[in-house]
Amino acid sequence: MIDPVFAPDEPLAELHAHLGGGVDAATMWELAHEQGIKVPYPDYWSFAAATSVGSGTDGLDGLDRIYHLTELIQSSPEGVFRAVHGMISGAYRSQRITTHEVRFNPAKRNRGGERDLDAIVMAAVHGLDRASLEYPVRAGIVLMMDRTFPPELNAQIVERAVRFASRGVVAVDIGGPRPRGSGAPWDYSALAPLVRRAREAGLGVTLHVGEEGVNAPDPGPYLEEMRQAVALGVDRIGHGIIAAFEPRLAESLAERGVVLEICPTSNVRTRAVAGEEQVAEVVFALQAAGVPLVVATDGPEMIGTRLRAEYQLLVRLGALTRAQAREANERAHRVTFIPA
Ligand SMILES: [Zn+2]
Repeated sequence: MIDPVFAPDEPLAELHAHLGGGVDAATMWELAHEQGIKVPYPDYWSFAAATSVGSGTDGLDGLDRIYHLTELIQSSPEGVFRAVHGMISGAYRSQRITTHEVRFNPAKRNRGGERDLDAIVMAAVHGLDRASLEYPVRAGIVLMMDRTFPPELNAQIVERAVRFASRGVVAVDIGGPRPRGSGAPWDYSALAPLVRRAREAGLGVTLHVGEEGVNAPDPGPYLEEMRQAVALGVDRIGHGIIAAFEPRLAESLAERGVVLEICPTSNVRTRAVAGEEQVAEVVFALQAAGVPLVVATDGPEMIGTRLRAEYQLLVRLGALTRAQAREANERAHRVTFIPA
């Protein structure tokens, strides 16, 4: 055991957490029943176990399957409201998270187009407003595009972000699995017009990239994806851990001040890295290269962690000193897309 990095009442900032992985199992279970959704598990406990990424989960593909169920349960304005409210308020009570960005894909929560995208985003904004009324939190929504979506649907998501830019939506992101049958590199450069549109509207841009490929026989295509993302002029990157193995890429992140959102336990559980030692190696290398880092959970309920535990882990492994860990939290409060 090591001493806690933060005092219990110190405010933390969480900048990378998915709505699909951030709502506690009890709320999700009740939401499913309220909406009459058929849950493919016989009881609460098997549901709770199944919606957490344990040792039996099949890497990133397994994660995507879990997301599918939680997205279905959250696929209504009521579901999104309860989920956003529960996630932000719960994180304040459990972890004293006072700066909180929540990300989700609205088009994966509208039952294939049956529900109106605007109604879904507005419900998220209401959930955020309610939580910030009840607790002293600064919260913001990051709307996610998806790598499997056609460009027109991703464009619609960016338009929703622009429409709600002054009302709680603070940035755009892209995630999701790779389109069936396609490998790396996915063409990030094709996002250029959408990234430009978001930036012109004053939105932040953070993209999921550089999470995969760390132990690939040929990491080249994954590095290429990350180079393309950096060239788009992003503010931050979700994961980006592959840069630890490419000094020139790490150098360009440091020069441009691109912030990496590091989610250590997530990387271990999804097998993006070989284990804790490799995550420590990655974080140590990035920190040494001067890349600005923040620490996040990726979704505490699904990953089975807590933000404070993530800092403890990195300090225990020797990846960060206590001072560097504290500095990362201060940076997160500072580089958030949520206006002061
Ligand atoms: Zn993520």
